[in-house]
Parts: sequence; C-alpha cells; structure tokens
Amino acid sequence: MSKQLDPVSQAVRIQTPRSPQQEHSTPLYITSSFVFDEAEAMRAAFADENDENIYSRFSNPNVDEFVKKMCVLEGAEDGFATATGMSAIFSSFFALLKQGDHLLCSSSVFGSTFTIVTKYLPRYGITCTLVPANDRAAWEAAVQPNTKMLYLETPTNPQLEVIDLEWAGNFAKKHRLIYNVDNCFATPLLQKPIDFGADLVIHSATKWIDGQGRVLGGVVVGRADLIKDIYLFCRNTGPAMSPFNAWVLSKSLETLDVRMERHCKNALQVAEALQNNPNVAWVKYPFLKGHPQYEIATKQMTNGGGVLCFEIKGGVVAGRKFLDSLQMLSVTANLGDSRSIASHPASTTHSKLTDDERAAVGITPGLIRISAGLEKVEDIIADIEQALSAAG
Ligand SMILES: *Cc1c(COP(=O)(O)O)cnc(C)c1O
Repeated sequence: MSKQLDPVSQAVRIQTPRSPQQEHSTPLYITSSFVFDEAEAMRAAFADENDENIYSRFSNPNVDEFVKKMCVLEGAEDGFATATGMSAIFSSFFALLKQGDHLLCSSSVFGSTFTIVTKYLPRYGITCTLVPANDRAAWEAAVQPNTKMLYLETPTNPQLEVIDLEWAGNFAKKHRLIYNVDNCFATPLLQKPIDFGADLVIHSATKWIDGQGRVLGGVVVGRADLIKDIYLFCRNTGPAMSPFNAWVLSKSLETLDVRMERHCKNALQVAEALQNNPNVAWVKYPFLKGHPQYEIATKQMTNGGGVLCFEIKGGVVAGRKFLDSLQMLSVTANLGDSRSIASHPASTTHSKLTDDERAAVGITPGLIRISAGLEKVEDIIADIEQALSAAG
C-alpha cells in the first residue's frame, strides 16, 4: 500500500509474523524462553546485536504486538508493557530517578500513585512536591534545582479535573523536566499527550484498553532513550506482562475506537440527564459546558471520556443507599468496562481519610463516580434515576 495506514487501522492490523500454520488470529506464545540453533546466535542475542527473543521476562511476541500497537496509537518511539498500571508507573520513577532527585506531581493522582510518591520514593532519597492541578503559580514555585520529572494525570480520578497538557509541556521544557503523563482516563484515541510534548505516556491497560474487566496490564511508551532505561530496569526487576494478558489486550485494541465512541456518547447523555435531577447537587463531565476546565478539555481531547461524577444530595448516607438501590449497574472497584459501574469513594477507596483530607483531594461525602458502559443508554439512565429516587 502506498499510503501509511491510520493508527486506528494499524491497531486492528498489526500482527506478529504468521507461523507456518497460516493462522488469521495471533496465536498465544506461552513460553518462558526461546531456543537458539547455534551458540553463536545465542551469544549475539545476549550481546544485543539483534532483537531475537531470549526470555519472556525481557520480551515475548504477544507482548511485543501489544506494545507496537500502543506506540502507533500514542505516536511514541518505543514502549514496554508491564503486569499492571502500577508497575508501569513505579518503574518509570525507579528507572529514571535517583537519590537526591526531586519529583513534581499533581496532587490529584490515583491512590496507589500517591502512596508511591509520598511513602516509598522518600525512603530512597527521592523527594516529591504535590501541587494542585490547576495552580500554575504553585507549579512554578515548587521547581527546585534538583527537580527531574513532572508527573500528572488528566482527567483525574475520580474528580475529573482536567490539566492543560500544552501548558504543562511548555513548563516541563522550560525547566528541562521529564514530562510523564498517566493517560488512562482518556486513552490514546481521545488524547495524545506526546503531541503536547510528553516524554512518557503511561496506561493502566486494565481499564478502557481491556474494556471488559478481564485482565490486569500496564504500559509505558515514549522517548526511545528513556524507554531503554525503563526496559533495562524491568528486564532485571521483573514486572513483565504475561503473554496471555498481552494477547487479550492486543485483541481489545482492535475495538477500542468503536468502544470509546459509544462509552463517551453514553457518558455525556447520562451527565445531561442527571443535570436536571432533583436529588443531584451537581454533575461533572469534561465535555459538559459547566465543567470548570471545559475549554481545556475540548482543546486537548476529541471526546469527554467514559467517566462522569455527581454529588448526591444527602451525603454519605444517601451515597450508600444509592449503591444499594442499583439494579443493573455493578458496584465494583474498577472502571472502563462494557458494564456500567458505580462507586462511592467516601465510603470505600477514600474511607480511611479524615473529612478534611477527603476535602483536600476533592472527595465530597455524596460523590458518586459512574463508568458508563455499553448497555443501551436508556437502561443506564433509568437505573441511576430509580436508585436516586430510592436514596432521596
Ligand atoms: C487503575 C489506575 C491505575 C492503576 O492501574 P492498575 O492496572 O490497577 O495497576 C493507575 N492510574 C489510573 C488513572 C487508574 O485509573
């Protein structure tokens, strides 16, 4: 073909070279290691003189296929896939930062990311400053001579704050920081951080990429020189993605584009319906006009994503009653599934915090997070509305 295929088409067509069986769908390469016909070939592989597979902790055909697709979708030079999103995030810190370095991180990040940067990094002499997502003066004031990396997540979980990727990219460039973005909520189909200067982009593939709540996975893609350091760190420390999970996730990428279109459409319609509900104090969705960063969201995202949140009137008690009254939506600790999911952070993920601590990270007592699934939107809205009436 004369013309390069669109990344969406490549996510459908990229495939491990066919075996002599001429299979159409990629086979599973369930093997710990790979065989060499000659001692010389094995020597050359260990000397990095070629890309031959050696051992599945380093590389595996199923994992490579998944990573290649993710690189094309994000517009990245190279990548490495890991067992979970957290191991991708952890490895990007530990492979690139060292004792005496300083990390700048937005204050609203995924819970386990918060634990890594506040509890574990300091043990190794790596300090971290958490900065409110949209306080630009605070970002400037927090830069130190030893600041090495800027880490952020947008839209954030679960408050759906949106951070200006272009502004952050210019800020990182000015201060020569490694610009590292968790792009989990948007997926590469709605937002490409590399277009705004990101050096690294991370995903929890467990969420929208799998899209059906089956497997855990993570991936980091970006600048080849940085990925090489992350690869060497992972090759030795061992957070490799399993070939089976890579096979599932690579297949899922074939449908990510159509799935996201429907997830976003359903999420927006649910958000619009809830705006007029008497039991709802407010609704937040990046592509809803009233969102505080609506302008930024529509500038850097092609659609609003599959997650919305709202505040139920009546606080914690009403929030719990709402969950108990749902008939179709799942009550489970995941998002990005074909099945719609509801969660109540104040009584679950953030229940160990004090009221003040919760307020500081934007978790209000009646905050409900909805991950809009692929059911008919009328059914999603009807279930949420009846549960709101029951809780109100
Ligand atoms: C779930 C999630 C993670 C962690 O991913 P795991 O695959 O569960 O390890 C990181 N960042 C965000 C934004 C997430 O939603």
